[in-house]
Amino acid sequence: MSSRLDKEKAVNVQVLLRCRPFSDDEVRSNAPQVITCNDYQREVAVTQSIAGKQFDRVFTFDKVFGPTAKQKDLYDQAIIPIVNEVLEGFNCTIFAYGQTGTGKTYTMEGECRRAKSGPKGQLPADAGVIPRAVKQIFDTLERQNTEYSVKVTFLELYNEEITDLLAPEEISKATFEDRQKKTLPLMEDGKGGVLVRGLEEEIVTNASEIFSLLERGSAKRRTAETLLNKQSSRSHSLFSITIHIKEATPEGEELIKCGKLNLVDLAGSENISRSGAKEGRAREAGEINKSLLTLGRVITALVEHLGHVPYRDSKLTRLLRDSLGGRTKTCIIATVSPSVHCLEETLSTLDYAHRAK
Ligand code: ADP
Ligand code: MG
Repeated sequence: MSSRLDKEKAVNVQVLLRCRPFSDDEVRSNAPQVITCNDYQREVAVTQSIAGKQFDRVFTFDKVFGPTAKQKDLYDQAIIPIVNEVLEGFNCTIFAYGQTGTGKTYTMEGECRRAKSGPKGQLPADAGVIPRAVKQIFDTLERQNTEYSVKVTFLELYNEEITDLLAPEEISKATFEDRQKKTLPLMEDGKGGVLVRGLEEEIVTNASEIFSLLERGSAKRRTAETLLNKQSSRSHSLFSITIHIKEATPEGEELIKCGKLNLVDLAGSENISRSGAKEGRAREAGEINKSLLTLGRVITALVEHLGHVPYRDSKLTRLLRDSLGGRTKTCIIATVSPSVHCLEETLSTLDYAHRAK
């Protein structure tokens, strides 16, 4: 009995830290390096100079991926076990959290415009977590010789409003101005869960289809950005993969196993620290904070086993309610830049991510 309880109480939140390489601009400006990663010790050292003295602050994470770590390294070492859970019929969530420009989208999607599937269905080296997860799912399901289905949805959360990134209709300024029509309502499904009414569900039949879906979603995001002056750094995107697998019990009964993987590219974390400051954008910043801040509170509540988990306080946490806590696995990939110019935001990312541990 107690071991079952222990297992239920076991914290299933894993926090990884990824530091990207210097960008060309950072190299050109000779930006000093202030972040040093020790992948083996799972440590990140931040060098600060205060009153002319240099000292290091060291943070430890569940895993650390320094600038030389490749997409495949991160996936193989941290994500494969999570996708295996999903294939076993559980719900899991992976977040990318960090300042704009530190590699959240690179980590989740990779360079999908360049990344067409390689020869013999091999993944391009740049492919991020989403295409790799889809490939792992199909590789496993095809080996198992059972009936299955794989469905994906892709949505954007901006200002606490949901837009479908896979909806087929053309985006025009007119349709976008009619906010009632283009944003989708989040509703209770009567079974304790939520559903997004009208959200397009795309059936995927092989891994290589994922690149055109990602590209369709990002193209839609870019158009909306231009037409509506949206700032992409302020939006969250949620890519969900749902799998149903038909299984037969030893008694010959049929059983449907269902697992869901949520992949979340969060709004830039600088939106937390800058919130409220710019009055004209107060509402916008406030609303984005709502999802980002509530997510922080939900994770703290889960990690510290607080009785009340404030899922209901934001759209993002309502959407993810069935995939956070309980028998689910959560992985936060915190992304940072090595440069001194990002030092302040990097420290706040490290603090946020460290609190989630
Ligand atoms: P974010 O989504 O956090 O705003 P991006 O994913 O767009 O940041 O990354 C910013 C830039 O840095 C992109 O040009 C991206 O290709 C590059 N980049 C980010 N992480 C890495 C990495 N680990 N290795 C190589 N390039 C990276
Ligand atoms: Mg991005």
